[in-house]
Amino acid sequence: MVKRFIVGGLLTNCYVYVDDETKEAIIVDPSENDSSIDSFIDSNGLSVVAIINTHCHFDHVGGNAYYKEKYGVLLSIGYYDVDCLKRAHLEARIFGVYIKESPKPDCALDDGDVINVGSSKFSVIHTPGHTLGSICLYEPKGKILFSGDTLFFESVGRWDLPGGDYAALMSSLKRLFELPDDVIVYPGHGDPTQIGHEKKHNPFVK
Ligand SMILES: [Zn+2]
Repeated sequence: MVKRFIVGGLLTNCYVYVDDETKEAIIVDPSENDSSIDSFIDSNGLSVVAIINTHCHFDHVGGNAYYKEKYGVLLSIGYYDVDCLKRAHLEARIFGVYIKESPKPDCALDDGDVINVGSSKFSVIHTPGHTLGSICLYEPKGKILFSGDTLFFESVGRWDLPGGDYAALMSSLKRLFELPDDVIVYPGHGDPTQIGHEKKHNPFVK
């Protein structure tokens, strides 16, 4: 089960994915610590097994310190975003946003890595373009894709920020569009969509 929380000034989607059989859960992109996330996890008796950042931008990582301390779990991010995660709290200040410095990630994820959440298995797809180390998380059984700021409903993430690259973003999209049409895409901002819908209607498709 996927539960979406819209958190922070940039309306970032933070997701809690729950493996329904085991009640194990992961937190994807904790933008901030928000009591609605805590009460969902606690009142459903979920066992959080990991925190995963799709990329290093401050609006996706502001709750890392809080949730890592609260649940005592491993924090993971794409290998090529480990470096910029160190600076996320400083970047935030430029926008007048104060977040706690993120703890060092315990695990740097690479393309093809698999994250087990109970019986669910998320494959890491390295999708550079929005940042160097952006990743998407794909669970084939439930047909779920957490796409971070790589793919949005009928749009894509910015490629003009440090580490961004338009050509890389287009190659990443091409890879995502090889997934089955009925895969549900849960983006970093805005409403969910489906791979098939984006293949037809996304203006960035060539
Ligand atoms: Zn971003």
